[in-house]
Amino acid sequence: MMNKNSRRRFLRQTVTAATGLALAPGLVSCGAGNTATASSSVPARAPEKGRKLNVALLGLGSYAKGQIAPSLQFTRHCQLAGIITGSPEKIPEWQAKHDIPDENVYSYDNMDELADNPNIDVVYVITPTATHKEFAVRAAKAGKHVWCEKPMAMTVEDSQAIIDACNENNVRLSIGYRMLHEPNTQDFIALSKEKAFGAFTAATSLAGYAGSDPPTDYWRGQRAMGGGALYDMGVYTVNGLRYGLQMAPVAVVKAMQHRPTEVDVTTEYTLEFPGGLLAEGKTSVVTNYNQLRIEGENGWHEMQPMQPYGGVKGLTSAGTVLGPPIDGKQQTLQMDDDALAIMNNTPVLAPGEMGRDDIAVIRAIIESAETGKRVVL
Ligand code: NDP
Repeated sequence: MMNKNSRRRFLRQTVTAATGLALAPGLVSCGAGNTATASSSVPARAPEKGRKLNVALLGLGSYAKGQIAPSLQFTRHCQLAGIITGSPEKIPEWQAKHDIPDENVYSYDNMDELADNPNIDVVYVITPTATHKEFAVRAAKAGKHVWCEKPMAMTVEDSQAIIDACNENNVRLSIGYRMLHEPNTQDFIALSKEKAFGAFTAATSLAGYAGSDPPTDYWRGQRAMGGGALYDMGVYTVNGLRYGLQMAPVAVVKAMQHRPTEVDVTTEYTLEFPGGLLAEGKTSVVTNYNQLRIEGENGWHEMQPMQPYGGVKGLTSAGTVLGPPIDGKQQTLQMDDDALAIMNNTPVLAPGEMGRDDIAVIRAIIESAETGKRVVL
């Protein structure tokens, strides 16, 4: 019987040995559409060895300022080198704080001129969801690798347009699914992969926080901009079931959305997976819950909480505790993983196809809630 520490080491070794770096995207099934990460397999323009990739942040809002920029201070393989913003008043503070030269500062009007700037390698799109497609496609057309925040886009078509633009312009694409880079989550995924507790029998995926109804004059309160609980938080529950069960859902059995305004504040859904396995999902911006639990014939494994910025905790029915929570920021690991994938021309953990397939599930949940019908994926 393995003790807790040797099991943990084993899990880490398994993960690392399988990939050389971390989990390969193929380990997280994305359904029939995931033909081995088309955008991940295109040859990238690899920078010179030993150089850090230069990242320009597009959209200097709360996530860029509060999480991504601070995380970039600790990355080993990339660095903050540029900004793209629609708010000129933000520029002086960002330039001073991060030592960004004038020639690496862009607006949304002139960002296509990035094509002439060899000192920017990656554009990280961190804007309201409805704007991801336009900005990501323009970045790809400027010849820059694209990192795109979750949820990838509003629709499957928009998601595919981003994938196509990256393929056509020979640049790499990663979605900002930070949990896939989090070591305790990776250990959890390893347990799922080996079916440590036998064949799966049920799953639950919950992600919510006790906020208040999003204001309607802010994009998070606007349906057309990608506001509401399901796009914002629900995408974690859908992605969590994908990596927790290592397969893609085949149908939305039923769904319910509570929409006091034009966006949902809570959404509940039931997904069906191959073999008739049912999974329950719930997401909210007004109620706290955070758990991913996979039940097997002989026990269970879970993460609770499953998607905070820090403090992910895993537990199994055998008493194994995953962890401890990592020091530092998940986003540092995420961006270093994504930078190494570009430099080494290796697969990314969160390819565009995965982001797109999650959006297909999100859209099907909305359709099921609106029609009251089962929706086949
Ligand atoms: P904010 O509202 O705080 O910031 C968004 C920024 O986008 C704005 O400050 C603005 O930057 C820019 N922007 C460009 N076009 C528009 C527009 N039409 N309307 C409003 N803003 C615009 O949002 P967040 O930073 O919280 O979220 C941004 C993205 O990051 C979302 O996709 C969200 O889902 C994702 N996110 C991911 C998280 C994660 O854990 N992975 C956590 C939080 C958010 P500027 O003024 O510079 O132009």
